[in-house]
Amino acid sequence: MQQGAPRASPAPQPAAADRDHMRDYYAVLGISVDTTQAQIRRAYQRLARRYSPDVNLWDREAQALFEEISEAYRVLSDPSARTLYDRHGAVAGGTAPVGAGEESRRGGRRGEDLHVPVALAFQHAVTGITVDLSVERLSDCQACGATGARPGAVPVRCGHCGGAGLVWLGETTARAERCPACDGSGERVAEPCPACRGRGVSRTRTVARVVIPPGMDTGAQLRIPGEGHSGPFGGPRGDLIVITRVHDDPVFTRKGDNLYCELPLTIVEAVLGARIPVHTLHGDVDLVIPPGSQSGQVFRIRSRGMPRLAAEGRGDLYVTVRVEIPRGLDARTQELFREIGRLLPEVPHGESRSAVRT
Ligand SMILES: [Zn+2]
Ligand SMILES: [Zn+2]
Repeated sequence: MQQGAPRASPAPQPAAADRDHMRDYYAVLGISVDTTQAQIRRAYQRLARRYSPDVNLWDREAQALFEEISEAYRVLSDPSARTLYDRHGAVAGGTAPVGAGEESRRGGRRGEDLHVPVALAFQHAVTGITVDLSVERLSDCQACGATGARPGAVPVRCGHCGGAGLVWLGETTARAERCPACDGSGERVAEPCPACRGRGVSRTRTVARVVIPPGMDTGAQLRIPGEGHSGPFGGPRGDLIVITRVHDDPVFTRKGDNLYCELPLTIVEAVLGARIPVHTLHGDVDLVIPPGSQSGQVFRIRSRGMPRLAAEGRGDLYVTVRVEIPRGLDARTQELFREIGRLLPEVPHGESRSAVRT
């Protein structure tokens, strides 16, 4: 059940003004004023099928058209409402729906989204950061107040669509699309605004302050509603979409929320075990290396990874130990290693040897 205007009205208007803002319902359905009820229903069914939100899920223009079509059918299919509507049209002078343009000018097409790439230092991906982005975007033209008309000039009915804002594709099909000449407003600008050349919007450079939360990764997107391009002729702004690229860190490698790093061990630490302080993004942690640790063994330190972007907590830090084999030993140390070698149990060579390392 749709009551009243399909679009959200920006402000309550006096009752007398409402009539002037009505669409020409006959033009919306592509029918003439003397069409029968059966023909109205057929015209509506064809259009409703074409512009149904079920098949145009992501198409805002189709959705807006569908709402207009439904509204037109709701009025014209009700004989008493239709009579009332016809009479109002006569009162208004029987002219083309100038009001159509008025309405779309107030709640016009939404502006495009604006995509801005942002490079982040690794540390800022960890902590989050507030950045001031210099963005160039379409904004309402100040000279003409987004109307596109030279100040003082009177808009005229669009000759291409006859003021309906829709044009019909072919004689036999019931396909209609937004009038390209007037962008669906139903009006043409007789004298375009010199500042924006009649488009109602102009490019301006501005600073957008964006709060980047902790945990952003390369390719992650942040959507800031209403900070994109202005729509034509006073339409609402699209969104600002910030796409981040995070610089690599020399120590930590990132995979999702987890971090990976390597830790060199002396051969003595690996053999006898040790307690080694490890730098993490969230303070130092003592990592306990058990006696007999092997090179390549991985230790997990919980909750010392990246902050989770859309959730509580942090990922983990995985530390891979690398046992450094000493080189260039002096004679005395070499002799000690030989002695150790004599004390160590035999390690069988061959295929079983590779199974010793896990
Ligand atoms: Zn302008
Ligand atoms: Zn037009």
